[in-house]
Amino acid sequence: MSDLDDIQKQLAALSEEFANNLSPRIDQIITEVNSVLEQVDKFAFMQTIFRKIHSLTGSAGTFGFNRLSEQSRQLELMVKSFIDNHTLWDDQTNDDLTNGLKNLHQLIDDGPDVTKSLNIQASPTSLQNHTERHIYIVEAEPAQGHELCLQLKPYGFKTSLFSSVEDVRQALEKGNPDALLIDIVLPKGSRGSISIASEIAPLHKENIPILFMSARKDWESRLAAVRAGGTIYLEKPLDITRLIEHLDRITQQVPHKPYRVLIIDDALDLAKHYSLVLRQAGMHAEVLNDPSVLLEKMESFRPELILLDVYLPEISGIEIAQVLRQHSLFFSIPIVFLSTEKNLDTQFASLQQGDEFLEKPILDDHLISNVESRVERSRTLNQLMFHDGLTGLLNQITLKKRLEIELARSQRHNCPLSYIMLDIDHFKKVNDRYGHTTGDQILKSLGHLLKQRLRKIDQIGRYGGEEFGIIMPDTLPESAYQVIDKLRKFFSDLTYQSNGKVFSCSFSAGVACASVFNHEKSLIEAADEALYLAKEKGRNLTILHKDCQQ
Ligand code: GH3
Ligand code: MG
Ligand code: MG
Repeated sequence: MSDLDDIQKQLAALSEEFANNLSPRIDQIITEVNSVLEQVDKFAFMQTIFRKIHSLTGSAGTFGFNRLSEQSRQLELMVKSFIDNHTLWDDQTNDDLTNGLKNLHQLIDDGPDVTKSLNIQASPTSLQNHTERHIYIVEAEPAQGHELCLQLKPYGFKTSLFSSVEDVRQALEKGNPDALLIDIVLPKGSRGSISIASEIAPLHKENIPILFMSARKDWESRLAAVRAGGTIYLEKPLDITRLIEHLDRITQQVPHKPYRVLIIDDALDLAKHYSLVLRQAGMHAEVLNDPSVLLEKMESFRPELILLDVYLPEISGIEIAQVLRQHSLFFSIPIVFLSTEKNLDTQFASLQQGDEFLEKPILDDHLISNVESRVERSRTLNQLMFHDGLTGLLNQITLKKRLEIELARSQRHNCPLSYIMLDIDHFKKVNDRYGHTTGDQILKSLGHLLKQRLRKIDQIGRYGGEEFGIIMPDTLPESAYQVIDKLRKFFSDLTYQSNGKVFSCSFSAGVACASVFNHEKSLIEAADEALYLAKEKGRNLTILHKDCQQ
């Protein structure tokens, strides 16, 4: 059984369990309503009753008992008005509430409303296998086409070159590439976009993405590309690094990391329902019922968004949000409140700490799209705050913070850790000879290479100029040396073109180990010392710090 089938089954079981428990759950509230006047602290008891009806409203709606949820909401508001006015209810109210609750029994047979969609498709967040990707290229100029094929090869792309749209159409009858890269030449005149669209139309097949490249930068050409169904439009001369980034993303070789969502709700069945719905959409969702262990959970699970109930026993969701906001690490985490609360003041108060207020019951699809768009935006903001704009690697400050955390972890678990400093050789000359833009391209291509070739757990940062730092957790210095030296050779074999001149570049690297240099500052200095020696010895070289050699 697939994971999705399994989740569907769990959702159905949860819904059934909820339906079976409805009747006793309502009876229990009736008993409590009838015992209010016997309680010592009557107001505290009314609060408890309010919370129970409130939770019933939310869960009933979520599990498709819509009419029951609506009626329950009326009762909830009735109780709330007494609490807000700090008055005890009279016998008449007691009867009204009891009758109202009894009436809910009759609405049980109404539901659940099965039209409510439980059929969410798996999102593309599931991981893909790392295989060679095949790109069909249409380029009328053979020399340019061959150069492009050569440039894509080191990054794991197999290419087939075609000189016309007709040629590629025939090839498409026999097989499917992972993407099509087409040079478009737009005819002059307003009908250009129509003729391109009809020329390209036969190439659309089974969602194979089409990327256009063109020497034209104008609006008309970009529009023509959109109308012809292009996913990406790239201007010539091509920025190869960007092309590779697009191809990686489109062919899903950069796996989309599943969103991590923490759900805090005391209603267990509801929380479980939300977590299953989010998991079905490919996310990682965990439930927390006890807010007192929230900080530990934040550290172990590292959520990217929190779904927070407004009413919990003994603490309000707003207070939980305040605690999080006072913590520097969680200051910017998106918080979405989920509640049946209709009171605008309470909604407003929640929004002072949170980012959104969603009224329960919320449709599964709405919940998913809301969470997706919030986490995506937050990822973009984090990218800007913690990453270097040119290469997308971590910035220097963030890399140092991560090194601190990783060093502490390696000491706690008694695991090795290696740190590498890397610097491009004679980069000033590259800039002087071929221009700053070419220099930038090389920095980006090295950044890309490091990201593509190193492990996920390795953390790579750019120090600003042409210097890079790499944290390799769980790695002995000899292995770190070997990995980097292999990359060094690979990088120095790459060739670049600028103004018709072909040239290559190299880097030097220094490796140091945390078993000898166990402080962040001394570890960086040791790696720097080894790098300096590599430069002295002639560059295009990796050196392992002498104290880290066995
Ligand atoms: P060495 O082999 O000793 O490292 O020589 P080098 O020329 O690489 O080192 P140096 O520190 O003398 O010069 C670094 C050059 O890197 C200077 C600067 O022009 C260039 N550089 C720094 N940041 C950037 C950048 O963001 N883009 C570009 N294109 N060049 C940069
Ligand atoms: Mg340098
Ligand atoms: Mg330098």
